[in-house]
Amino acid sequence: MTDTILEPARRVPVVHETDVLVVGSGPGGLAAALAAARCGVEVTLLERFEIEGRRQAMHAIDALRAYTPGCNGARLRNFGMSIGIRDTRKIDAIYNMTESDVRHEGRFEDSIGIYPEFIYGYGVLILPTTGRYMQIPYRSMLPKRIDNLLVAGRATGGDRIAHAATRNMACCAVSGQGAGVAAALSVRHGTGLGSVNVAQLTDTLDRQGVRLH
Ligand SMILES: Cc1cc2nc3c(=O)[nH]c(=O)nc-3n(C[C@H](O)[C@H](O)[C@H](O)COP(=O)(O)OP(=O)(O)OC[C@H]3O[C@@H](n4cnc5c(N)ncnc54)[C@H](O)[C@@H]3O)c2cc1C
Repeated sequence: MTDTILEPARRVPVVHETDVLVVGSGPGGLAAALAAARCGVEVTLLERFEIEGRRQAMHAIDALRAYTPGCNGARLRNFGMSIGIRDTRKIDAIYNMTESDVRHEGRFEDSIGIYPEFIYGYGVLILPTTGRYMQIPYRSMLPKRIDNLLVAGRATGGDRIAHAATRNMACCAVSGQGAGVAAALSVRHGTGLGSVNVAQLTDTLDRQGVRLH
C-alpha cells in the first residue's frame, strides 16, 4: 500500500487581494482583524456560518408566521451573539501548550498576552480567583507544516486541559490580537510568519495595551 497520493492541481480564480486575510469572525478572528487593521494594513474578514445561521433564522421566522397558529405577528428581537463551537480540531503547533502550562503559570519568551488560571472542561473546574496566570506563546499559533498561516482562538496547539483554558472567548481574543499584529508585521517587513521579530511583535502589542507579563 502507498503512503501518499498526489492530488491534482486546480485553477482557482483570484476574486480579491488583501494584505491580511482573516477567516472566521469569532472572538479570535475579530480580535485578529481589528489588531491588524490598527497596524495600518489592509484586512479582509471572511465569515460564513454566522451569516448562514442568521439567514436560516429568518426563514424559521417566516415559517412560524405562516404555519404556527397565533404567531402571525411574531418578530425577531435578537440573534445569538455568536455561533460558538466549544471544541473541535486543533493544530499541531510549533509549541503545543500543556496542562502544566495552565496550572503552573507557564512563562514564554514569545508571550503575546496572558490569561488567568481559568480551566473549565474535561471534568476540571478552576475559577480565576487567585491572580495566577499563564502567558500565551506565539508559537502555539504556528502550525508545524504550513507556512504563512496563523491559527488563533480555540484551535491553537495544546493538550485537552490546556484547551479547557485557551478556548475561553477572552483567551481567544488574546491569541487573535497577537495573530493580527504578527500578520501585519509580516506583511510590512516582508518576513514569513515563522520569522516575525518577537521584540517588534511584543512592542506593538504593548502599544495596543496588551498585558504581556
Ligand atoms: C454552547 C456553548 C457555550 C459556550 N459558553 C462559553 C462561555 O460562557 N464563555 C466562553 O468564554 N466560551 C464559551 N464557549 C466557547 C466559545 O464560544 C468558543 O471557544 C469560542 O467562540 C471560540 O472562538 P474562535 O474565534 O476560536 O472560533 P469561533 O467562535 O468558533 O469562530 C469561528 C468562526 O469561523 C467561521 N468559519 C468557519 N469556517 C469558515 C469558512 N470556511 N469560511 C468563513 N468563515 C468560517 C464560523 O462561522 C465562526 O463564526 C461556549 C461554546 C458553546 C458551544
